[in-house]
This record gives sequence, structure tokens and C-alpha cells, in this order.
Amino acid sequence: MNLFKPMDVEKNADKKADLSKEQAEKIKCLIIGSGPAGYTAAIYAARANLSPVIVQGMEPGGQLTTTTEVENFPGYPEGVTGAVMMEDLKAQAERFGTEVRWGEVTQVDFSQRPFQVVVDESKKIEAESVIIATGATAKYLGLESEERFKGAGVSGCATCDGFFYKDKDVAVVGGGDTACEEATYLANICRKVYMIVRKDYLRASKPMQARVFNTKNIEVLFEHNTKEITGENSVSGATLIKKKGTAEEEEVKINIDGFFLAIGHTPNSKVFKEYLETDEVGYIKTIPGSSKTNVKGVFACGDVQDNTYRQAVTAAASGCMAALDTERFLAE
Ligand code: NDP
Repeated sequence: MNLFKPMDVEKNADKKADLSKEQAEKIKCLIIGSGPAGYTAAIYAARANLSPVIVQGMEPGGQLTTTTEVENFPGYPEGVTGAVMMEDLKAQAERFGTEVRWGEVTQVDFSQRPFQVVVDESKKIEAESVIIATGATAKYLGLESEERFKGAGVSGCATCDGFFYKDKDVAVVGGGDTACEEATYLANICRKVYMIVRKDYLRASKPMQARVFNTKNIEVLFEHNTKEITGENSVSGATLIKKKGTAEEEEVKINIDGFFLAIGHTPNSKVFKEYLETDEVGYIKTIPGSSKTNVKGVFACGDVQDNTYRQAVTAAASGCMAALDTERFLAE
């Protein structure tokens, strides 16, 4: 079933960005983003002689480089660090001729073909096809201590890192479906799970809430906000403020080894929004069973179009789909 009609590029001349074609470099297949989706797309595209160029983006290697050990990616029986896995994927993409470049895409014009893309506000590219693999960014609270302990007790993904907290005490921040899902997932592994919820209710769906309330080792701390995460080299606790801004305000300390953020993700789709259909959160819509967006020749893969699974292996698989879709598009 088609979610939407492909955009007719000819009828969108008014949306054209002011990009001079002068000095534009011509590229057959431009891949934007360098996580598992982008690199997998590159491996397939390079092997199909599409001479792909990857523009890495602000966080080369993507979200996986912020985690420690990856143990659930098939093919690594002993596990692998996120950083090493991304280096391996990069090397594999380069082995078949992918050109990997530093830089961030700052402007696009998808109203015409070839597509116009600007990197770092200066370098112009004309791309016959574009694969978007810019991922999503887990939201963080913005605490200084949170930055300090990233990869040392602070995580944005329970499925990725939960196993390292076997029989330990952890906290999950958030009151939505993701937080409830992560808390119940962690409750199977950890001794105790605190849910830190800023309101006096959970935003999650009723069945999700029921799962949380029926799990004995989850304690929901309603009306609590995190002031600070504490520890020496890794997380050992957190200081919370209960009923902030009221007469009953008080400081609460909990002892934990892991601090999980589940307050939502931001898909990195802002620069494409003028041209591509997204859902209300900003996830790029693709035609189910494909990587096709509403603009012919522009494909999306990985977390920027996946609000459901968000795993390295699913991102990689969708990167493969995007490369195959691109190959077919260019052959037409
Ligand atoms: P949501 O936006 O639904 O929830 C985010 C939660 O984080 C809210 O409880 C919010 O609090 C809290 N929060 C946000 N910012 C802060 C902050 N600065 N400090 C403390 N708490 C904060 O995001 P989700 O990721 O949970 O879900 C996204 C979408 O995906 C939803 O539509 C959800 O239904 C869906 N989903 C569905 C699943 C399923 O069906 N299996 C699983 C996971 C997600 P507050 O309520 O106060 O705003």
C-alpha cells in the first residue's frame, strides 16, 4: 500500500533552493550518514559499481560510537565495541571503493534532478540518487554529569547496554512507552529498576503501564526530577528532586550503577523536511517494504525512518534495501 504519492519534481520548481549549479561535483550515489545503515548501503552500492560517496555527518559512526560493547550484532560471538564495529563497517565499505568524507549536509534541493546538496554550507554536489541514513539522536537531560558518564553508566538504549547491569540496580528516566518497555526489559536482568517520572502519572499506554505496575522489582518514582548523576569513574548513584517547586520539595538519593534515558529520540531529518514527508515526530516516511520516500530517487534507511525497532542490525538491513532500491532506480 502506498502511503503517499511520489512527488512530481517538475511541479515543485517553487521549492527550489537557491543553489548555483556552478562548481557542483557530480555524484551517482550520495549517502548521507555513517552509522550501520549508511555503511551497509555503501557496501552494497559500491559492489554494484555506483561509486558511492558517504558524507559522514556530525557524529561519524553514529549512535553506536556512544555505546560500549555491542553483543547483539550477529557475527561477533565475543561482542565488539561500537567504535570498532563502525571502523570495521567503514573499512568494508572502503574496500569496495566507497569514498568516505568528513562533513555535514547543510542544505538540499530535492525539487529537481540531479538533486542539489550542499556540504558544510560551501561544497556543492549534484547527486543522481541520495540515500539518507542520518539516524536519530536519543534525547538527554542536558546535565553535565550525564555527559561525563556517557558510556560509563549512562546510556540511551536499554536493549544495547542492559546486559552489563545484570543483578545491579538501575534507573530509567521517562514515563512514555519507551521508558515502560525499557524498564520491564531491564527488570528481567537487573535486581531493581527505578523509573524516574517527572509528572504524577505515566504517559504510556494502559497495557504498558500495567506491565510496569505488575513487575515487582520496578519502583516508579513519580514527580521526581534528576539533579545530578554521581560516581567516581562510573555511575554509582543519582540525586533527585521530589516535588520540585512545591512546599514539599525534597532531595532524594538513590544508589544505582546504570542510568538509562528513555525520554524520546529526535530523528535527524530537519534538513530534508521541506521535501520529504515525515510523521509528526519527524521520522521520514517510506513506502512499506521499501526504502522509497515521496521523492523518486531519494531513499531513507536506518533510524531516521524507523521509530519501532531502532537496532543496529535492522538499520544495516534497511541500508541494504536502500542500496538495492537505488541500483534499480538508476538502472531505470
Ligand atoms: P514519549 O514522547 O511518548 O515520552 C517521553 C517521556 O519522557 C514522557 O514521559 C516525558 O514526560 C518524558 N520526558 C521528556 N523530556 C523529559 C525531561 N527533560 N525530563 C524528564 N522526563 C522527560 O516518547 P517515547 O519514546 O516513550 O515514545 C515515542 C512514541 O513511540 C510514542 O508514540 C510511543 O507510543 C511509541 N512507542 C510505542 C511502543 C510500543 O507500542 N511498543 C514502544 C515505544 C514507543 P511527560 O510525560 O512529562 O512529557
